[in-house]
Amino acid sequence: MIENNIKNIRQRILLATERCQRDPKEVTILAVSKTKTTADIKQAIAAGQDCFGENYIQEGVQKIQFLANPGLTWHFIGSVQSNKSRLVAQYFDWCQSVNSLNCANRLNYQRTSFQKPLNILIQVNINNEQTKFGVSLKELSTLAEQVSQLPYLKLRGLMAIPALKETYHHQLIIYQKMSEAFQELQNVYTSVDTLSLGMSNDMEAAIIAGSTMVRIGTAIFGSRVQK
Ligand SMILES: *Cc1c(COP(=O)(O)O)cnc(C)c1O
Repeated sequence: MIENNIKNIRQRILLATERCQRDPKEVTILAVSKTKTTADIKQAIAAGQDCFGENYIQEGVQKIQFLANPGLTWHFIGSVQSNKSRLVAQYFDWCQSVNSLNCANRLNYQRTSFQKPLNILIQVNINNEQTKFGVSLKELSTLAEQVSQLPYLKLRGLMAIPALKETYHHQLIIYQKMSEAFQELQNVYTSVDTLSLGMSNDMEAAIIAGSTMVRIGTAIFGSRVQK
């Protein structure tokens, strides 16, 4: 089932990129495996999936240690509590949810010099009043500048979890704002290449707006029991 689901996601990416004449290779699938077992993850690996996203730090670290597979890339996509940042810095390849200088400083300090720099996405709060996570577009350029100065971090781009809108048109307007902010960042920093936008229910709008990474949980692994 997981294998088929991944094939379906690839097909959806193909159709969405055809609609906007983008190269499907520009869009990476991040398999969001939170609450799912390592057996589920192994099925995804067998289907060719090699990057995974986790929201809960202890659960994520357990899976990383258990699978112990250097061919995999792990993205932390949950909120980084300050008492957990050390584990993010030690075990993950990416952190997609940096939203303050304090958080960036901690990760930079805790990343060890024999590791590659931790890849960083700044989380942007784009018209999403329900959650307080993420910086506003106004605060973005200052934080990006600060992150880009930190030697053990590598600024790769932006992440957002926009609230679903009533219409596809409204959705697209918001996603285009994200895409513009991403392009502005790319003009300043050569290391920036990733716009993490779109989940199971909204990946088409995100891809049409320019997303380079869709974070897919439910549509790959099935629905989750609420945690
Ligand atoms: C859970 C989660 C996802 C996956 O959502 P689905 O709707 O299951 O695809 C993507 N991004 C973040 C940040 C998440 O927490």
